Amino acid sequence: MESNVFIALGSNQGDRELALLRAVAEVGKLAQTRITALSGFYDTEPVGLVAQPTFLNAVMRVETSLSPRQLLAELQKIETGVFRRVRDVPQGPRPMDLDILLYGDLVLEEEGLVIPHPRLHERRFVLVPLAEIAPAVIHPRLGVRVDELLRSLPSGERVTRI
Ligand code: ADP
Ligand code: MG
Repeated sequence: MESNVFIALGSNQGDRELALLRAVAEVGKLAQTRITALSGFYDTEPVGLVAQPTFLNAVMRVETSLSPRQLLAELQKIETGVFRRVRDVPQGPRPMDLDILLYGDLVLEEEGLVIPHPRLHERRFVLVPLAEIAPAVIHPRLGVRVDELLRSLPSGERVTRI
């Protein structure tokens, strides 16, 4: 069965725009997976304690028959294999971060995989690009539309479409 899945992309090392385009191409090459939407690219202030360069963020929608676990494994393969990502400083700089935001209506809380992404609803850098391509999609755990989640977010970090 095919599911509508939303994936967040983020980069704050190297040529960020090239990195996002490359990641889109790599996801497009995955078996049983088709890209059906892509948001604009957003320059965003980093969140959290680690001082680091600004990110470029985007969100894509895919239709896939990969399972959530299979998809996560493929995304991690792209992070490490294509982008040579090394997991050192948690929340620190990275050439590419690929997160599963939503997987259809699935609610899953397992070791190493939580869907919807646990911080999706509190992150402006995720909600702005997500609301651009999926304003009416309902967060299956909170029961709230994406554009409503964005509206109820306190003003915070800067998110600018490039
Ligand atoms: P970040 O939280 O900054 O994205 P990482 O990319 O290093 O940090 O991810 C840490 C771990 O988060 C991964 O090893 C993965 O198992 C786990 N994880 C849990 N839920 C998800 C999800 N929905 N999408 C991607 N990774 C997830
Ligand atoms: Mg991640």
